[in-house]
Amino acid sequence: MRWSERQLAMLREMGIRLWPAAGDDANAPDDVHGDAPVALAQTTDAAVIDAAAPPVSHAPVVATPSHALSSHTSPVSTLDWPALRETVAACTACRLCESRRQTVFGVGSTRAHWMIVGEAPGEQEDRQGEPFVGKSGQLLDNMLRAIGLTRGEDAEPAQQVYIANTLKCRPPGNRNPMPDELAKCEDFLIRQVQLLQPKIILAMGAFAVQGLLRSTEPVGKLRGRVHRYQGVPLVVTYHPAYLLRNLVDKAKAWDDLCLAVEASRSGA
Ligand code: SF4
Repeated sequence: MRWSERQLAMLREMGIRLWPAAGDDANAPDDVHGDAPVALAQTTDAAVIDAAAPPVSHAPVVATPSHALSSHTSPVSTLDWPALRETVAACTACRLCESRRQTVFGVGSTRAHWMIVGEAPGEQEDRQGEPFVGKSGQLLDNMLRAIGLTRGEDAEPAQQVYIANTLKCRPPGNRNPMPDELAKCEDFLIRQVQLLQPKIILAMGAFAVQGLLRSTEPVGKLRGRVHRYQGVPLVVTYHPAYLLRNLVDKAKAWDDLCLAVEASRSGA
């Protein structure tokens, strides 16, 4: 997506800045889930991207084939939203049920055109029962605001996002999710996608991306093109927690957001 001069001027007037400035307190990571490696990047001013910055160039939208989904009939495939939420809250299908405070089902309008899929709940998510809270949640909200989206439920569906994680329970100590945990939890996410029928999915972070796309490729190799999940266009980007530690990659994340806007409009 290319911003017109009028749009850029409007964003400047609104004082919308996409990213926290280098040195902001908000740059401290609040969880460990993101995209490896977790090396601290140099925090240069040049790495701080403002929504009013000139547009960056984008890779062409190239749809890749849908990945094959498991053919078994899921016991949750007929549930409506309330029943699905209740089923998740009572789930004991994997060991994570033993250490969670509560399940983290999802947040946002069930009429939203956009779906954000993250990895696993961190400590604050586990406490609050909502995905993407804390500093990475603030960064996500800023990213969404810069492209006219909100997790609030008052906006039009085209401006709304529904946010969910691939795992509904927090791995203890914020350890990485295990493959069997992701596999056991995926039916819940698939049902959320079926019920929501989003126009675009933005997958954030290595475990979300690799789980959804059945890939072992790093985020850096999978981003820049449009994939599909459950028939829905899917764009890959970095997790906000990773971006808080690696400011130089925020420019790439901005490219990814613009690609997602393009894909949502074209239905690529
Ligand atoms: Fe159930 Fe998913 Fe929680 Fe495991 S992580 S207990 S599969 S809801």
